[in-house]
Amino acid sequence: MGQQKRYLEQEEHKRVIAEMIAVEAEAIKPCGNHEDVLLSMHDMDANTRAYKIAAKHFKRGEYDEFESQGELTDLIKEVIDTSHEECYSCSKW
Ligand SMILES: [Zn+2]
Repeated sequence: MGQQKRYLEQEEHKRVIAEMIAVEAEAIKPCGNHEDVLLSMHDMDANTRAYKIAAKHFKRGEYDEFESQGELTDLIKEVIDTSHEECYSCSKW
């Protein structure tokens, strides 16, 4: 496995963690039919909850793939910001 591939897998793994936290906080939710499509909830309280969950887990040392808590919360913010308004696959029907 090349260095570049390993790096990408690590980044992908980090993103999965950020998505998991955002879903747990209900800041985003997967489409009922397409679980890989993440939908925005536009809920500021949920966003705050996501950051709190991230901080709690990070302090326990659970996410040592992140260099800092800031790196984790930045990624969660990105996940929320890039989530979709609607599921394109579902809205086609
Ligand atoms: Zn869908």
